[in-house]
Amino acid sequence: MKIAVASGKGGTGKTMVATSLALSLVETNQVKLLDCDVEAPNAHLFLHPTFTQEVPAIIRIPKIDPERCTLCGKCVEVCQFNALVKVGKTIMVFPQLCHGCGSCTWNCPEGAIEEIPNPIGLIEKGRAFAGIDFTHGKLTLSEPMATPIIRQLKKLEKSTNGTITILDSPPGASCSVVETVRGVDFVILVTEPTPFGLHDLKQMLGILEDMQIRYGVVINREGIGNAEVDRYLEQRGIPVLMRIPFDKEIARGIAAGEPLIAINPIYRGKFVNLYQKIKQITEKSDGRS
Ligand code: SF4
Ligand code: SF4
Repeated sequence: MKIAVASGKGGTGKTMVATSLALSLVETNQVKLLDCDVEAPNAHLFLHPTFTQEVPAIIRIPKIDPERCTLCGKCVEVCQFNALVKVGKTIMVFPQLCHGCGSCTWNCPEGAIEEIPNPIGLIEKGRAFAGIDFTHGKLTLSEPMATPIIRQLKKLEKSTNGTITILDSPPGASCSVVETVRGVDFVILVTEPTPFGLHDLKQMLGILEDMQIRYGVVINREGIGNAEVDRYLEQRGIPVLMRIPFDKEIARGIAAGEPLIAINPIYRGKFVNLYQKIKQITEKSDGRS
């Protein structure tokens, strides 16, 4: 089972949920945690993994052989990111815009494109103290593209049957979030009951519905803001899987890098229940119950 934890808005408690879900399930399951927030990874601050493996993260940038290129323009046509432009008798490559998707190479009828690996960061793998297989990516500060490193990070993780893989998504509703949630079985959307929370939640719902990915909501900091999020979810029939009230003790502990289930152990059972609800939803929609 692959579960992504996402939120339209940054700072809503996504990593808090992802790490405590992993810690609550690891006693009885094989659990992997992938921190896909490669621009600002922070799950390691809660789980304290020991890293044993480093893999360079790369993006493959096209290089065009002018001897073979017939200037047919097919590569320019298929590039969705405007990273290739035909200027006079040359195809120009703009590496900063390239997502390394390989589409131009695939579609070149002359085999005129070679892909040159370009380092963009690092992937570190290890084990967190509770037995969680932990992987995160770190994008080099000057690099603009997060999606290739997320793609590579996900490819490295070959989950066996019965493994629960939890993906901590980047914030926002950008390409890197789409790359993170692609192919998962379920997305937990963490939100807070404020107008900003609702606005960003709606954006994420739109993306997940387009991608036909199942989801449910966790409301964090319940008690601040207003009832608009609840009203909206009720109208849409969207399940609220768990509620975490606003609590100064939780806020203090999280700021100090303590997992939620260490701050208040009652949450261990709540996270196990959260996973059971996700299992029921996915099994029901797969027609297995
Ligand atoms: S698709 Fe190949 S042959 Fe056509 S313009 Fe691009 S590089 Fe040249
Ligand atoms: S690899 Fe993809 S993004 Fe990069 S130039 Fe080719 S088609 Fe465009």
